[in-house]
Amino acid sequence: MGRIAYVNGRFTPHAEAFVHIEDRGYQFADAVYEVWAVFGGKLADPEGHFARLERSLGELSIPMPMTRKALTLVLKETLRRNRITEGLVYLQVSRGVAPRDHAFPKEEVRPAVIITANPVDRAASEARAAKGVAVVTTPENRWGRCDIKTVGLLPNALAKQKAREAGAVEAWFVDDLGLVTEGASSNAWIIDGDGILRTRDTNANILRGVTRLSLLEVAREAGLKVEERPFTPEEAVAAREAFITGAGTLVLPVVKVDGKLVGDGVPGPVAARLRRLYIERAKATAV
Ligand code: PLP
Repeated sequence: MGRIAYVNGRFTPHAEAFVHIEDRGYQFADAVYEVWAVFGGKLADPEGHFARLERSLGELSIPMPMTRKALTLVLKETLRRNRITEGLVYLQVSRGVAPRDHAFPKEEVRPAVIITANPVDRAASEARAAKGVAVVTTPENRWGRCDIKTVGLLPNALAKQKAREAGAVEAWFVDDLGLVTEGASSNAWIIDGDGILRTRDTNANILRGVTRLSLLEVAREAGLKVEERPFTPEEAVAAREAFITGAGTLVLPVVKVDGKLVGDGVPGPVAARLRRLYIERAKATAV
């Protein structure tokens, strides 16, 4: 069965799924996106992702293209048509199509909406989590509004490529003060020498990860000591455990930073427990 995409109101085979050459997402990265993890055909962390979508769109003065309810139906219909029960669903909303001009179009344009879906092999991702992954660090070089989930992802793409070439799975951006901001497509965490679970606060220039927010709740409910406080790559190496979070990675242990082993170089018990608790909660609250 071929893959099916949703493009501006129509379900279309991928081979025929096109956007206009003057789509502002294509020309100016004037577009935002969201990615939901999908468990049993349902959307994980629905409230967090819809709230962030509305916020990202609001920051760019792009209207919501349809109600949350309608969007949920279309996202799930995309999953159904692709026969995906375990996977990821991607939504992109651009300002729309208009003759090329940096400023917003004078005439009202309709936002352009695309949705695609991909299956995830849960057994393979569990195996990867059991083994842990390597990350590399790279200087922070992104713009000052990383809190908006825009498709302007060139620094992230270059960082990810650097990671891949080093045999790593993720790149952590490091700011001028030597502190980790976040990953190219994930948030960064450690369990420090005092057993405190730490991740960077969202006053910093980072994306407010939805998985991050849910995991903070999960960790507090589990009785862990939690601090939203940044750390250096050296602190990550000296930490008991490290991991990353995101809709794609869920909770994924990090066992190497720039070639140096974190702790014993194997995934630790806290990350494994948090992964299990997060997945349980995501499944229970998915819609
Ligand atoms: N940080 C960045 C830069 C990301 O691109 C992502 C996800 O794609 C995340 C963090 C994690 O966010 P979420 O947990 O909402 O997927």
